[in-house]
Amino acid sequence: MKRLVIVANRVPDPKERGATAGGLAVALQDAVSRRDAMWFGWSGRTAEATATVPELVTRGRLTYATLDLGEQNYRRYYQGFSNGSLWPTLHYRLGLAHFDREDYAGYREVNAAFARALAPLLRPDDAVWAHDFHLFRLGAELRRQGCGQRLGFFLHVPFPPHAVFSALPRGDEMLADLAAYDVIGLQTEDDAANLRAALATEGQEEAAGRVVAIPIGIDADGFTKLAERAVEKPDMARFRRSLVGRALVIGVDRLDYSKGLPQRFIGYDQFLAQYPGHRSRVSYLQVTPISRGDVAQYQTLRRELDELVGRINGDYAEPDWAPLRYMTRAVARPTLAGFMRHARAALVTPLRDGMNLVAKEYVAAQDPADPGALVLSRFAGAARYLTGALLVNPLDPGEIAEALDQAMAMPLEERLARWRPMMEEVRESSARNWCRAFLAALEG
Ligand code: ADP
Repeated sequence: MKRLVIVANRVPDPKERGATAGGLAVALQDAVSRRDAMWFGWSGRTAEATATVPELVTRGRLTYATLDLGEQNYRRYYQGFSNGSLWPTLHYRLGLAHFDREDYAGYREVNAAFARALAPLLRPDDAVWAHDFHLFRLGAELRRQGCGQRLGFFLHVPFPPHAVFSALPRGDEMLADLAAYDVIGLQTEDDAANLRAALATEGQEEAAGRVVAIPIGIDADGFTKLAERAVEKPDMARFRRSLVGRALVIGVDRLDYSKGLPQRFIGYDQFLAQYPGHRSRVSYLQVTPISRGDVAQYQTLRRELDELVGRINGDYAEPDWAPLRYMTRAVARPTLAGFMRHARAALVTPLRDGMNLVAKEYVAAQDPADPGALVLSRFAGAARYLTGALLVNPLDPGEIAEALDQAMAMPLEERLARWRPMMEEVRESSARNWCRAFLAALEG
């Protein structure tokens, strides 16, 4: 089998395995465990200048190749253009996007630096698979370096209609850059259709024909086992005792404005206000590790959430009941899986999301004899696939309140009827199948 070269903004730590590894590392585990592979990208460290020669670490058949980024490159490519311009635009949030020509130049510079450092490491028959919005231009830069290998690209986040994307200055140039890739993958048919139309509008009809929708998934059976084992652990027993028989509602999201957290909290507030019968009978645990904490908009969001949590708890708490438990720390995956299994309902209400793996994890974590209900945003890619969920418009807190009431009152029979097909779907569209389908398209 030919070697697979994965390129992503971040490269997993060679020491991270299984339970501690990040989402992409987990999703690609199958692909990299079956063949020679290289994982290339940013080391996560900054230096005075961007490195030109990668640091190599080899573990078995997998080589990690990482570059330190220069301070200025990091600010412009990563914080400025990737997180400040592209992320909001691709999530339909033009009001939050800012554009700076120097940031854009930094983005192109880093894509070029990656290509210059990677090209000498490539073998003629490698397949190269670049990931996500940080690397729109990598393929074009690799071609400039004379690379003739098959080049694939997967966009993990949504792609908006052209009318939205074209508001991004130089968006036309970025679409032309994408045309360097042989296969361009997205999460849903809607995203794929948007990208095809955008490419066609920019005169890239041929590239539009290379766009495919392949949904990312999880290792469902692995996650089910994690959840089964977690509920046996002493810390879960302690957690269950702390609920004193109250139904658990769970939310698990990075602290990001795409996740619709303020609207969700307001929805929960309305749920308690409109359905007072649930007061004191429900505990909502929201686990939200801080992300991109050095970006101003994320700091503002954090303050807004702190205030909402304080107000909701202040308004409804009883001496022996806090309606909303809110944690801004990361939690070990097995513990998260245990929370999910115990939860009677999950709130997964992003304003936009490429897929949303938490929704799939919640489904996989359920007890087949007594599954919980999933309240899911219709604007998450997962909504296209998890049809047994209670779909809501996350911008309407009233819909969240109604769905949560419905979830809490849902009889076992209905929960089973909704969960079974979702579990089948989560098993079927697994991480492994996602890798295989994409690589089949890339390698023919
Ligand atoms: P995104 O990639 O935008 O963060 P996803 O829902 O697709 O959203 O993936 C998030 C991943 O991160 C999931 O696998 C989820 O379990 C994990 N995760 C989210 N919150 C936490 C947390 N508090 N602790 C540990 N892992 C988390």
